[in-house]
Amino acid sequence: MINLLDLDTAGLAALFARLGEKPFRARQVSHWLHQRLTGDVDAMTDLARPLRQRLAAVADVRGPRVITDTTAADGTRKWLLDVGGGNAVEAVYIPEDDRGTLCVSSQAGCALDCAFCSTGKQGFSRNLTVAEIVGQLWHANRTLLADGASAAAPWVEQGRAPITNVVMMGMGEPLANFDNVVAALSLFLDDNAYGLSRRRVTLSTSGLVPALDRLRDACPVALAISLHAPNDALRDRLVPINRKYPLAELLAACRRYLERAPRDFVTFEYVMLDGINDQYGHARQLIALARDVPCKFNLIPFNPFPGSGFASSPRARILAFQTMLMDAGFVTTIRRTRGDDIDAACGQLAGQVQDRSRRAPLRIPPIVSSPAPGPC
Ligand code: SAH
Ligand code: SF4
Repeated sequence: MINLLDLDTAGLAALFARLGEKPFRARQVSHWLHQRLTGDVDAMTDLARPLRQRLAAVADVRGPRVITDTTAADGTRKWLLDVGGGNAVEAVYIPEDDRGTLCVSSQAGCALDCAFCSTGKQGFSRNLTVAEIVGQLWHANRTLLADGASAAAPWVEQGRAPITNVVMMGMGEPLANFDNVVAALSLFLDDNAYGLSRRRVTLSTSGLVPALDRLRDACPVALAISLHAPNDALRDRLVPINRKYPLAELLAACRRYLERAPRDFVTFEYVMLDGINDQYGHARQLIALARDVPCKFNLIPFNPFPGSGFASSPRARILAFQTMLMDAGFVTTIRRTRGDDIDAACGQLAGQVQDRSRRAPLRIPPIVSSPAPGPC
């Protein structure tokens, strides 16, 4: 049985061609699925009943099964979604003054094992299917609409879906699940599906360089890079994929990406780890490194989880780091931590992962930080 949420626009068109139907039927069904958010083929009432019956014989709509649904004090809402086989992933809704953002997962776990990431510590089970990725947005819009959330969301017209922005920043490395992520992105952007602007869909990656080049050609959306260190020695330890694709290669790929990107800058994410990457010298190196890439910085206070072995830089040091970058001419924001009382903040998403990577625990050599000459 085909899950209609698994089909991108081309997949729906192919299904209707197989059923001997005109291509506009695919667009009609896409409207029902992704705009009216229907979960039932029989509810698609502008298809004649015999066609609905033929469609229902081969396809249905299977959204995610919700295990838990938790709302934080600040309105952030997290769904833990069952993806079978003992795995569950998380999707997080973040309402703000002028937008509603959904943070979407792309894998059950992650194989890249960044030193400070709770998802990475869970190991890796498998890539999510298109239906499991798209299903997060489908489910969130559907649930929020049914709960009347759009009434409390001044950025949407009454009765319209409340999610205006998607960030691929949940569990997993999106570029390691390339084909399914690109199919899902194409539905996020398609006017017959969710119709989001490219600028409002952001993919965050730890830096899989060949896949970044492919994304540039296949489906360029706004780009965030998990940088986290200003030199290869430190990044090799914090973000191990750097050993394969070091900083010079990554930054060159960012410049190539910008030739096609919907925004004229890359966002560099930089998690602030006390005594590890937050010193004066690191800021100076970062300024030199980023000089040739149109970029903004987003400093992320480290969100702790049990056994991480790291602590967040104190607020004063984060502010001083920000000041140094701003004085050097870089737009630099500090990410507001949302939903931390329900473990929904960046890097706290753990879900449930049946680790099948059987990797040895990563032994990180001690990181010796450079002496701090000043407030940073
Ligand atoms: N795999 C992708 C996207 C998911 S992680 C990536 O790495 O970019 C989303 C962001 O949260 C990344 O910038 C990641 O480095 C950051 N992050 C991971 N663990 C964190 C933690 N404990 N505290 C704060 N940010 C964290
Ligand atoms: Fe994977 Fe991203 Fe976590 Fe690194 S930070 S382990 S790439 S999810």
